[in-house]
Amino acid sequence: MNLYNIKHPEQQVNFAQAVRQGLGKDQGLFFPATIPQLSNIDELLALPLVERSQKILAALIGDEIPADKLNAMVKNAFTFPAPVAKVAENIYALELFHGPTLAFKDFGGRFMAQALATVRGDGKITILTATSGDTGAAVAHAFYGLENIEVVILYPKGKISPLQEKLFCTLGGNIRTVAINADFDACQALVKQAFDDEELRQAIGLNSANSINISRLLAQVCYYFEAAAQLNTEQRQNLVVSVPSGNFGNLTAGLIAKTLGLPIKRFIASTNANDTVPRYLQTGEWQPNATVATLSNAMDVSRPNNWPRVEELFKRNGWQLSELGSGALNDAETEIALKAQYAQGYLCEPHGAIAYQVLKDQLQTGETGLFLCTAHPAKFKESVERILGIELPLPDALDKHNKLPLLSDEMDNDFATLKAYLLK
Ligand SMILES: *Cc1c(COP(=O)(O)O)cnc(C)c1O
Repeated sequence: MNLYNIKHPEQQVNFAQAVRQGLGKDQGLFFPATIPQLSNIDELLALPLVERSQKILAALIGDEIPADKLNAMVKNAFTFPAPVAKVAENIYALELFHGPTLAFKDFGGRFMAQALATVRGDGKITILTATSGDTGAAVAHAFYGLENIEVVILYPKGKISPLQEKLFCTLGGNIRTVAINADFDACQALVKQAFDDEELRQAIGLNSANSINISRLLAQVCYYFEAAAQLNTEQRQNLVVSVPSGNFGNLTAGLIAKTLGLPIKRFIASTNANDTVPRYLQTGEWQPNATVATLSNAMDVSRPNNWPRVEELFKRNGWQLSELGSGALNDAETEIALKAQYAQGYLCEPHGAIAYQVLKDQLQTGETGLFLCTAHPAKFKESVERILGIELPLPDALDKHNKLPLLSDEMDNDFATLKAYLLK
């Protein structure tokens, strides 16, 4: 597999290098040089999830990873289902929260851990990532206990739910977690700064594991196929997919699936009040505001770092950005949407509620709508219980961690402090 740096196309790497390096020169994102057109979509859709995903990833990655190794990676990563549930007439939910940390980031996180364990060279590896919520948990769990891989996770102190925090800040072992006194964008900036520091990078074998790592995106392509596989031929004809978006990795993966030939008529990028992209699509002007805290806090991102990949795909495929739907809901609207879903007989959480409502508002006659449910309702227990006036039992996976003490360190938004901490 050949990939290039979007910022510096002359920098070209193979899959192993892209997985190990995460980011290219000047913080540029790696992107596949070619994406094949699959001719056997119907045959693929007839296969079970793991077998189909092995074929899709083999088509994307090529022979750089031997088939038996790739098959094992996929099998170890995709250990849970992604069911489609009917929510309303012509509207379906793709439930991506049946993994160990109850969020869709388990797909990308687990495959990335497998990929890195497969392509790693000699020497120490340190995973450094920033999370606004679920990435951290997925990365921590995916790498927990892997030999010679150290994990450091930064998150904005007080800006993620207490339960989310418990899920990944209680593991210990090779997982270190740091609460930064700033917002998510600042955490992300610290991570980028660390990657720009060549000395630090070499010293600890820095590696990124957030949504910028290409292996995560490739894994996520697979569940768009899984969704289509559970719909009938007629529903697949005019399929519109709404993606609750923060850093826009999920949407990028969907667009890669479409490029591979999966029949998706159009995508809708759904956001909360951090609506840089919906405003950009309407006005043509890229004007990020300060990040605001919302109910759907995993999407509290005003400078989505995967956006250049989205634009690259549109450009390369000759698609117009005007074909990309979008919509943004504030918290009050999110609450109404969550209640509407519940009245419909479907229990969701704020991120999925936004994707549902924006889809419902924009779906046209004759179309089938699919929205992505990115987290289990219990991961946003406090909000969901308050908004719906119900009590949610805690799933075992969460309950177990909720009883353990937090092991996080606390740190100011200061790169020198972080660097010293990492070198320690
Ligand atoms: C990360 C996350 C998102 C946003 O996904 P991106 O790929 O960053 O756009 C949406 N919902 C939940 C629950 C998440 O954890």
